[in-house]
Amino acid sequence: MYLILFGPPGAGKGTQALILKRELGLPQLSTGDMLRAAIAEGTELGKRCKAIMDRGDLVSDEIVVGIISERLDQPDCIRGAVFDGFPRTIAQAEALDRLMAKRGSQIDSVIELKVDDEAMIGRMKARVSESGGAARADDNPATLRHRLGVYRQSTEPLLNFYRVQAKLSAVDGMAPIPQVAAEIRETLRRVSRT
Ligand code: AMP
Repeated sequence: MYLILFGPPGAGKGTQALILKRELGLPQLSTGDMLRAAIAEGTELGKRCKAIMDRGDLVSDEIVVGIISERLDQPDCIRGAVFDGFPRTIAQAEALDRLMAKRGSQIDSVIELKVDDEAMIGRMKARVSESGGAARADDNPATLRHRLGVYRQSTEPLLNFYRVQAKLSAVDGMAPIPQVAAEIRETLRRVSRT
């Protein structure tokens, strides 16, 4: 099963992707994690992306589609994968559909984690103060507001893209983590029955 976890920064996509990985054995494909790894390794790609990510802007479609395409070729992605933070633009979603079609497959389901922006900023502030200064460079309230703006403008239109394909379901992302996980499980059960 190929699944997209969808939602604004801080909605809990990464947390739920890890739960799905544990429960279903599906790899988590987080473009944010892959880009941060490239920065940590000091690769050319990482150098090109660092300032853009620190500002909270999107790196180019070409870069993220390229890294996802390479990642999908790894053997652990043959049975499925959970996309976390990808796609973020219509162009990325179209490219993903093409990548999947080329592999004789398709996106089975897109799950939106519905959250409240102000509560998100509150969660983020708590995360920053808990981390005692070790937070990600883009994890601060000002950059988060910017990332939420980028989400509304460039990423939210994807909801309609997937609604039209009849792949979209929503769960309450403000619920406690185990409850969100249970709602996702229930949604996947429903989807695989249809
Ligand atoms: P994330 O960890 O998903 O919040 O991503 C952190 C940052 O990486 C984002 O703010 C973007 O700068 C960049 N990024 C991650 N995924 C994408 C994507 N699919 N398209 C463009 N930029 C991305």
